Amino acid sequence: MNLVFFTGAGISAESGLRTFRDSDGLWEEYKIEDVATPEAFARDPGLVLHFYNQRREQVLNARPNAAHRTIAELEEQFDVHVVTQNIDDLHERAGSSHVIHLHGEIRKARSTKDPRSVTEINGSTLLLGDRCPLGSQLRPHIVWFGEEVPMLDKAAEVVKQADVLVVVGSSLQVYPAASLIHCTSAGCPLHVVDPSDVESGSVHVTHWNEKASSGLPRLASWLKEKYG
Ligand code: NAD
Repeated sequence: MNLVFFTGAGISAESGLRTFRDSDGLWEEYKIEDVATPEAFARDPGLVLHFYNQRREQVLNARPNAAHRTIAELEEQFDVHVVTQNIDDLHERAGSSHVIHLHGEIRKARSTKDPRSVTEINGSTLLLGDRCPLGSQLRPHIVWFGEEVPMLDKAAEVVKQADVLVVVGSSLQVYPAASLIHCTSAGCPLHVVDPSDVESGSVHVTHWNEKASSGLPRLASWLKEKYG
């Protein structure tokens, strides 16, 4: 059975990484247009690099939680794919084998001249003057607002193959990523694990109204019972 997880900032909240829109969310301190757009990087690259250096430092200090680990453990019984909006690497560190990052990866940098030139960042900082082999400034390997989502088609293919789709910790408000829940084949059940109501449009969902670290283990037991 193909089990696909679509995860957002909420799954990493209990690892200490702040979410996007919750009341203590990250973006209240920063304006999106100041730190997460190509225009912001053109205007003030130092500020943008500083913002992502802070995020990277936090990710390096964070550990996967029970929700990340539960998803990785489900590989023992099911074909599991993860499509994440998160830029952290907590799914990989928990042991998940198939992870698609829709919005990029904080621990990587890429060339401003050639988007195919992607490198790992050693440590936590990317600075003005750090250059790719072609000699141009490196930027965070992040999909900024207003940019295309290069992994979207691949993610849509994965979602299409799902026998069960589980959304964890996403408000489903960031597009086009959120549109992926509409790519499932007919009859594919959709489960949502989130302590808040999540707006899913016309799609019927089974809502597991709790935090990821408790909801995922409970959902995993249920899935094993029903499909294992
Ligand atoms: P969002 O912030 O819009 O929504 C977060 C959702 O998580 C909310 O529905 C909230 O109720 C839920 N949530 C909060 N605590 C939870 C918990 N303990 N367990 C389960 N759910 C919980 O997040 P989004 O939909 O992912 O969109 C945010 C965008 O910001 C994404 O594109 C992502 O790239 C980026 N982002 C990433 C990280 C990260 O990589 N860890 C962190 C913040 C933001």
